[in-house]
Amino acid sequence: MQQAALAELGSINTLEALRAWRQRYLGKQSPLGEISKGMGKLSAAERPAMGQRINAVKQLLEQAFAACETELQTAAQAAELARDQVDVTMPGRPVQSGRLHPITQVLREIEAAFAQMGFGVWESPEVESDEYNFELLNIPANHPSRDMWDTFYVQTPQGADQVVLRTHTSPGQLHAMRYFAPGPTRVILPGKCYRYEAVDATHDMQFYQVEGIAVGDNITMADLKGTLAQFAEQVLGTVKIRFRPSYFPFTEPSVEVDVSCTFCQGSGCRMCKHTGWLEILGAGMIHPTVLRNAGYDPEKMSGFAFGLGPGRVLQLKYGVSESRLFFTGNVRFLEQF
Ligand SMILES: [Zn+2]
Repeated sequence: MQQAALAELGSINTLEALRAWRQRYLGKQSPLGEISKGMGKLSAAERPAMGQRINAVKQLLEQAFAACETELQTAAQAAELARDQVDVTMPGRPVQSGRLHPITQVLREIEAAFAQMGFGVWESPEVESDEYNFELLNIPANHPSRDMWDTFYVQTPQGADQVVLRTHTSPGQLHAMRYFAPGPTRVILPGKCYRYEAVDATHDMQFYQVEGIAVGDNITMADLKGTLAQFAEQVLGTVKIRFRPSYFPFTEPSVEVDVSCTFCQGSGCRMCKHTGWLEILGAGMIHPTVLRNAGYDPEKMSGFAFGLGPGRVLQLKYGVSESRLFFTGNVRFLEQF
């Protein structure tokens, strides 16, 4: 029995099996236990020899049990340590870092470029009265040029002033000029604008605009051109700019401004529709009526104004075909900038 027990012990490899083994060979129901119980039937002469024999076997099996238990516990501990081991030489998991939205980045770039030329940043409300958004900018009610801006009108109580989501940053011109007049004004006005438009590749209901104005003595188209040339060079790199005559109700004369194509350097490509030029902004000399509305005497002071889209600047800078991609919230697209 002793040999059978030891042989079986050799093949045991879990603590549960080991405990069962002990029950089987050393427990009360075990052969050894049965023999111990039968001791009383033996004669006094036989008893000591039998007792010694039983104890010897018991001791031997107990020792074997203890050795096996220690061995199994050590092995279990080692296995657990191996499982929980940390390989400190393994490379870490990459951490996704956040970044500024490309529009925010380019807005800061634009602001920095104009700040160098002495322009401050002026913020004005996104909700405007009809008066500021249109009338003071030389766009009276029923004027046909109102068709240029499809407007979100805000519901107001009967008899209250008409309120709109600003369709351009231009109403800010009036706020700024009225603040500085009769002294000179030189600010840019960045912000969100809203138009009631069907959304397509080139139109969105919400977009950013940066308006800029400079009013002072003897400010001319040459100042406008110099300012915009400096801006274009700083933000887009070395480019040529050209003025094309245009129409805006609040400037006279008005121009559309193009820069030489940043992708083909003017030789013609898909981005510039093979013209060599890319449209970037609208500008002009502030209309005398607007100057008067702002508190200036147009006989004494003159000024220029321009309005550009940061989304457009981003498009030209990086060759992105649709500026609305910047507002889709697609991280894989946005993290390229
Ligand atoms: Zn081109």
